[in-house]
Amino acid sequence: MKSFSIPLFLICVSFLFIFSCTQKTSQEASEKNWYKGNLHTHSYWSDGDEFPEVIMKWYKDKGYQFVALSDHNVFQEGEKWKSIKADSLYRNAFQAYLSEYGEEWVEYMQEEEELKVKLKTYKEYAPLYNEKEKFLMIPAQEITAGFEGKPLHLNLTNLERLIVPMEGGSVVEVLQNNINAVLEQRKASGKPMMVHINHPNFIWAITLEDMIRLKGERFFEVYNGHPAVHNLGDSTRMGYEAMWDFINIAYLEKGQPLIFGLATDDSHNYHKQGAKFSNSGRGWVVIQADSLEAGTLVEALERGDFYASTGVELEKLSYENNVLEVATLPKDGVNYTLEFIGCKEGEKDTQVLKTVEGNAGSFELSPDLLFVRCKITSSEPQHNPVENMKNQLAWTQPVRPE
Ligand SMILES: [Zn+2]
Ligand SMILES: [Zn+2]
Repeated sequence: MKSFSIPLFLICVSFLFIFSCTQKTSQEASEKNWYKGNLHTHSYWSDGDEFPEVIMKWYKDKGYQFVALSDHNVFQEGEKWKSIKADSLYRNAFQAYLSEYGEEWVEYMQEEEELKVKLKTYKEYAPLYNEKEKFLMIPAQEITAGFEGKPLHLNLTNLERLIVPMEGGSVVEVLQNNINAVLEQRKASGKPMMVHINHPNFIWAITLEDMIRLKGERFFEVYNGHPAVHNLGDSTRMGYEAMWDFINIAYLEKGQPLIFGLATDDSHNYHKQGAKFSNSGRGWVVIQADSLEAGTLVEALERGDFYASTGVELEKLSYENNVLEVATLPKDGVNYTLEFIGCKEGEKDTQVLKTVEGNAGSFELSPDLLFVRCKITSSEPQHNPVENMKNQLAWTQPVRPE
């Protein structure tokens, strides 16, 4: 197994990493970087309410290193004219867009009350923001399928071509057919790409039992910043974090690889802020990888070399010689609780195996454990939270005893 540790600062750009390979035969040191990004975002190309250029600028200015703009069943290519709502909020935002990017860049038509703007394609606007090792746009799609009124959404990250949503005779079959379509595209293209299940509790579409029956799925959203996705479940249905552990217990029983948990924004609303709106900046992943390239990032995600966050920043995360070590970036006046959560062999549920009050802690995995992960809760409130998720959180990915 590998380990990685972050030095003092995890703000903006990239961070030097000490990486030591701890395979039994060798120990080698190399440098890795941390890359912060959001894998789920919408724009005017589907039901988001902002131009892609403006959204990309927001993320880049906020210190993200990558964004996947994942519109519903559309990739930003071809000709699309967007009719801008007459509401002054959106008309003023258009004026701001026009003055920022200029008459030369913006193509629009105005006839009486109607205002139509030609959206820029990925090929047109990505070069404005892509910058080696600083910022990367990853081509993506939210495959937006359904079954009997249930929304079944899966994000395809680093796509080669758009996938027409697959149908099927049940929730599981629809999901599986779409997962398979991505895996086939990946195989045919030879390009690393990933599929992840979005917001299972949106309209209560995907149950734990459905998730357990899937094959070849490695990721789902343990946190999604949209206000209608029931991250915490309700009085009768479980939230994503509990679901995560039960899926993994079942996957290990069936000999499937562990599923990893992502945090995403799923942002649509760029002009109204608050708990009722899907705003940017709520959930992200921080990936440890060699370089800021889409394929490299996907491969690092598949190795579990990342954590999901709604605000907490880590300065150390390593798993070496069966010891999981976590440290947050210390902040004045902020306290952290680290919970090491795992499942013992033969048991059907996880438990908190160790709690540390402080910004750093470690846990040694004994052979009788199926997996262990760390959840970090900060005393600092999250800016602009959804549901009752008031505190900033982070989740490391589950690890198994070697
Ligand atoms: Zn969705
Ligand atoms: Zn979405």
